[in-house]
Amino acid sequence: MSKAVVDAVSKQLFIDGQWVDAQDGATFDVLNPATGEVLCAVSDASPADARRALDAAVAAQADFAKTSPRERADILTRAFELLIERQDSLAELMTLEMGKPLAEAKGEIVYAAEFFRHFAAEALRIEGGFMTSPAGNARFLVTKQPVGPCILITPWNFPMAMGTRKLGPAIAAGCTSVIKPAQQTPLSMLALVEILVEAGLPAGVANLVTSTHSGETMEPLIRSGLARKLSFTGSTKVGKILLEQCADKVLRTSMELGGNAPFVVFEDADLDEAVAGAMAAKMRNMGEACTAANRIYVHESVIEEFGRKLAEQMGALTVGDGLDPATKVGPLIDEAAQAKVTELVDDAVDKGATVLTGGSAPDEAGYFFTPTVLTGVSPEAKMAREEIFGPVAPLTPFSTEAEAIEKANDTEFGLVAYVFTNDLRRALRVAEAIESGMVGLNQGVVSNPAAPFGGVKESGLGREGGSIGIDEFLEVKYVGIQM
Ligand code: NAP
Repeated sequence: MSKAVVDAVSKQLFIDGQWVDAQDGATFDVLNPATGEVLCAVSDASPADARRALDAAVAAQADFAKTSPRERADILTRAFELLIERQDSLAELMTLEMGKPLAEAKGEIVYAAEFFRHFAAEALRIEGGFMTSPAGNARFLVTKQPVGPCILITPWNFPMAMGTRKLGPAIAAGCTSVIKPAQQTPLSMLALVEILVEAGLPAGVANLVTSTHSGETMEPLIRSGLARKLSFTGSTKVGKILLEQCADKVLRTSMELGGNAPFVVFEDADLDEAVAGAMAAKMRNMGEACTAANRIYVHESVIEEFGRKLAEQMGALTVGDGLDPATKVGPLIDEAAQAKVTELVDDAVDKGATVLTGGSAPDEAGYFFTPTVLTGVSPEAKMAREEIFGPVAPLTPFSTEAEAIEKANDTEFGLVAYVFTNDLRRALRVAEAIESGMVGLNQGVVSNPAAPFGGVKESGLGREGGSIGIDEFLEVKYVGIQM
């Protein structure tokens, strides 16, 4: 079955409604992170290929903007249905290229599909306004139009959902696009584009380039002035480079960047609920999530019990190939990711942390890391400032609410925070005081296609999902009418 799902998906670029090889015939290998083996080779786009993709998006823009909201909604609805119908094979494809356990991959396919269902509905609700001017002598007509051709760049950690979170609102709003997935995980995006074609997406509306030299291929597109928007999900480091490039032609931007989420457990929290929340916030996607709990602050009176319970549950997780139904923790994405997590754990231990469970990579093929709980992690440890992006939970005690808030905000990031308490006033006080775009109150997962996802500070600009998500792909136009 595994080979069949890989064989079934196209390995080419998708430009102007055609599957094509890179012009110079170049390809690159896609690896299975559980084994290090090559799954297949896909086309490696050159800057010229990427330019042809953008030209196709530009040529298709005017006609696509004229399609009715109902037509666009119907395409997204059909694509939603196909994703749901094929969730088993799509999940297997995702596990093979990305590593996450099958059950999580299936969860991501459903989550990804829900963005299409959500934005199919939003396509029908693009509203404007009409009002009398304050002086009474004019009328204001306010309408919304598609931004124009978009460049969409996605990361490897949610290879399907980050695609639908961008393509859904772009299509709903009437925007054409060039989409570029991460080089580690092109297969899910290839399968997604195939589904959109089957669902009736017109030629030129979504163009797909896979490439190993993303800077070289994408920068000329961004600087060309032909695209009107960049929507990027990835690291803050790359996001900053892209923001500079966008400044050249003043592109609209949506930037979903890195996180360093605090997870705060107060002494009045339900401790079992907090442990379950920490497991979800930490271990979703093996900790390779921008929303992953990166710094866990626990009140000093309950930290010992919390640490013991968390270590018990983390230590009981089965690590292995995501295709094995028993697996709860798959491999990290590549060797560099495994080395980085190892370095962060070693550094924290060197600076005084105690290992409650795990602490190293198992001695076997594949890029695995044993689920780890550390306590007494110093604020000087690198992991207090950097995204861990692995299955490692660092615990630090605090004594007062003010101290917890200060620690939570002591970062340049501000994507999400988690707060566990049974005191309603405290919950609202702390949720307001924490500098983040999202807060999970007594819950360890906040992502939902119907809610606005995004960060503040260096975690990004703009929101994806919710009713606000489509506005990122619309321009407001005001028409003044003299009476
Ligand atoms: P990354 O290295 O920033 O890469 C993200 C995407 O950008 C990939 O497609 C990558 O292509 C491309 N890219 C890299 N350099 C580029 C350049 N100079 N010009 C144009 N494109 C370029 O991030 P990642 O390691 O894939 O993903 C992990 C990061 O994403 C984490 O920081 C995580 O927090 C963040 N993330 C944020 C959210 C959110 O919603 N806020 C969601 C998921 C992930 P290549 O594969 O070819 O390098």
